[in-house]
Amino acid sequence: MKMYDVTGAIYEGMTVYKDKPEKQPKINQQTNGYVTETRLDLDVHTGTHIDAPLHMNVDGETFESLSLDSLVGPCQVLDLTAVKNGISKTDLEGFKLQKGDFILLKTKNSFEEKFNFDFVYLAKDGASYLAELGIRGVGIDALGIERSQEGHPTHKTLFANDIIIIEGLRLKEVEQGQYFMVAAPLKLVGTEASPARVLLFEGLS
Ligand SMILES: [Zn+2]
Repeated sequence: MKMYDVTGAIYEGMTVYKDKPEKQPKINQQTNGYVTETRLDLDVHTGTHIDAPLHMNVDGETFESLSLDSLVGPCQVLDLTAVKNGISKTDLEGFKLQKGDFILLKTKNSFEEKFNFDFVYLAKDGASYLAELGIRGVGIDALGIERSQEGHPTHKTLFANDIIIIEGLRLKEVEQGQYFMVAAPLKLVGTEASPARVLLFEGLS
């Protein structure tokens, strides 16, 4: 059995959404010479993370509403590295997706370390197609699942259909195929997202 850690590392100076300085984590480490303690100031959308409906809807559910059961189980990595812009219905149709699937979109984003303002994202018609199919969740290797789309239609379509959204995956080392996923976020209460450790296991699904 082979394990892939598809989580981004968290450190000061890491890649953050749109390179905004206020999104950088602050790691304040204190030591008195023998005991070291660190205080962390962290945006919940830092690195690899999972969004909850509250993120795009003021009346939306908070993070603890996401059940761990839906974050652990079989998943499929789809190779979309040829897509240059938004992932559309046409790009997804060939994969024979089914209701209940959890899919991870591997794009050329996984091969870039710096923030690319033209990152590959899930287009609105791609999100609508996944909603029609009734998939369980979708992960992407971008810090946002959509890119400056007015009204945030991709997030809203997915949330309205109870589809879990994972952002900030690192899928460079992972081939297209079936895996068993363990996506383990912090057990935060009341927030609209949480950083998560995401592991994929080959030969377990
Ligand atoms: Zn987010």
